[in-house]
Amino acid sequence: MALRESYVPADTSSPVLETTVGGVLRKVAEEQPHALALVEGLPDPAARRRWSYAELLAESEQVARALRQRFEPGERIAVWAPNIPEWVILEFGAGLAGLVLVTVNPAYQPQELAYVLRQSRTAGIFYLPSVRGNPMEESLEAVRGELPELRESFSFEDWETFKASADPGTELPQVAADDPVQIQYTSGTTGFPKGADLHHRGLTNNARFFAERLRMDENSVYLSPMPLFHTGGCVLAVLGSVQSRGTLVQMVAFEPRLALELAESEGVTHLLGVPTMLIGMLEQPEFAERDLGSVQYVCSGGATVPAELVRRIEGELGVSFSIIYGQTEASPGITLMQPDDAPEDKHGTLGPVMPQTEIKVVDPKSGATLPIGAPGELCARGYGVMTGYFEMREKTAETIDAEGWLHTGDLVSMDERGYTTITGRLKDMIIRGGENIYPREIEEILFTHPAVGDVAVLGLPDPRWGEIVAAFVRDADPASPASDAELHAFLRKRLAPQKTPARWFHLDAFPLTPSGKIQKFVLRENWEKGLYG
Ligand code: AMP
Repeated sequence: MALRESYVPADTSSPVLETTVGGVLRKVAEEQPHALALVEGLPDPAARRRWSYAELLAESEQVARALRQRFEPGERIAVWAPNIPEWVILEFGAGLAGLVLVTVNPAYQPQELAYVLRQSRTAGIFYLPSVRGNPMEESLEAVRGELPELRESFSFEDWETFKASADPGTELPQVAADDPVQIQYTSGTTGFPKGADLHHRGLTNNARFFAERLRMDENSVYLSPMPLFHTGGCVLAVLGSVQSRGTLVQMVAFEPRLALELAESEGVTHLLGVPTMLIGMLEQPEFAERDLGSVQYVCSGGATVPAELVRRIEGELGVSFSIIYGQTEASPGITLMQPDDAPEDKHGTLGPVMPQTEIKVVDPKSGATLPIGAPGELCARGYGVMTGYFEMREKTAETIDAEGWLHTGDLVSMDERGYTTITGRLKDMIIRGGENIYPREIEEILFTHPAVGDVAVLGLPDPRWGEIVAAFVRDADPASPASDAELHAFLRKRLAPQKTPARWFHLDAFPLTPSGKIQKFVLRENWEKGLYG
C-alpha cells in the first residue's frame, strides 16, 4: 500500500519477546549444548580458542557468580579491552548478574576514561594492561583518584583467578527485560560523549530481528570485526549470532588480510563490517586468491555505504548485500535492507524499517510530518529506543520527545513504500549562500572515481558564501593521485556547480573512530589548526 506521508507504522507481525541477554544464551545452551558458539579469530588457526554453547554458558555463569559476590544488581561495571573472547563472556556474565556493562573504547586516553567512568558512576572495571601501545593500566592508575565510586579493578590477565573466586552456591538474580543492561557512550562523529542507557529487551530483540532478516540460522558462521564496545559488535554480532544459534568468529582487531583468511578457513557465511573495513578487504592484493565461496551475506552500515561499494562487493563476491541503518540510541538497528530487495533499492536506499518500529520524517523546525520525498529528520519509536542518556535529563529531552520519538539527527527522504534514503546529518549539512548542500551526494559521486580511495566532504567557513564545499580525499594509490582539476571536471559533469568543491585536500589517512567511521569533526579541527595547509 502506498504511503500518503512520510510515516510508516510498526510491523507487528513478529512479536517483541521479553528476553534478556543471559536468558537468550541459557535457552540456546539448553537446546543445543554442543554446537559451536564462539571462535577466537586469531591468525594462527591452532591457537584459536573455541567455545560450545554449553561451555560459553558455564563460563558466563561462573563469571556472573564472581561478579554477584562483589556487586549489587543495577550497579555499573566497565569493560576496557579490545575484542577478546573474555569481553563476550563478561557481557553475558554481567547480564546474568543483573549488572550494567559500560562499554569503553580501548583507544581512550586517561581523561576520556575518567569522564565515562565518573559520569556512569562505575563501581568496577575490567581491563587489559596495555593495548597496541596504549598503557591502559597506567592510565587507569593516573585517574583512579578522581573516581570515588570505583571500588574494584581487574586485569583480564587475572581472569582465571577472578573466575575461580566464584562460589557455586551464589544465587543469581531474576533479571527482567526492561532492566538496564548496558551504557554505551556515543558520539564518535559529533564529539560530545553521552551514555545511552540501554535495556535487555531493546538489545536482544533488535539483534534477533537483525539476524532473522539476514537469514542467519544454526548453520551460519558470522565473522565480525566490529568493535565489541559498539552495538555493531556486542549487540548485532554477539546477540544476533547467539539467537540464530550460529557460530561467531570474533576478530580481536580488524585487519583486512586476517579477515579474508578467517572468512576462508572458518567457512564464514555472514560478514558484517563498516564500509572502511570492506574497502580495506577489497584493496588487499590477495583478495582475488582467497576462496570466499562460503560467504553468502555481507552487511554494512554505521556510516554511509557508497552505492559503488555495494556493487563491487556483490559483483566480486557473488553475495547478497544488506545495509543496516541505526544508531546506538535505538539498540541500534532502525532500517535494514532485505537480502532480496531490488538492485536499485540496494544501491541507494537504506531499505525498509525493522519490525516493531515506527518511523517518520519531520521538518526539523516545525516537527510536522513531511510529504513523501521531502527531506527531513528521521524519527523512530518502538521497543528499542534507549531509556535515555544516563543521568542527563536535558540531553535526553532534546533527543526523545514527549511522545517517545527518538530524533536521530539524520536527514533522510522516504518513498511511498517507506524506504528511506539518507541525505546527511542535520549538523553536517552545508549551507552555501543560503542553499542547503548535502555532503553525502557529492561523496557518493567522488567515490566512483577510480583514483579516490575514500572521501569526506565538509563545509568550511567563507566570508562571502557563509560556507564553501571542501573535499578531503584519500587517494587510492598515493603514487598516482588524480589532480584536483580532473576531480573537479569529473564532478562538474554530474553535479550543479555550487556543489562542486571549491577546495581540495589530499590525505594519507583519515581520522577514524575506532569503529571505522570518518571523524568529520576531527578533520575540521585539524583544518582549523592549519594541518592540511
Ligand atoms: P552510532 O550510534 O555510533 O552507531 O552512530 C549512528 C550514526 O551513524 C547514525 O545516526 C548515522 O548518522 C550514521 N549511520 C548509521 N548507519 C548508517 C548508514 N547505513 N548510512 C549512513 N549513515 C549511517
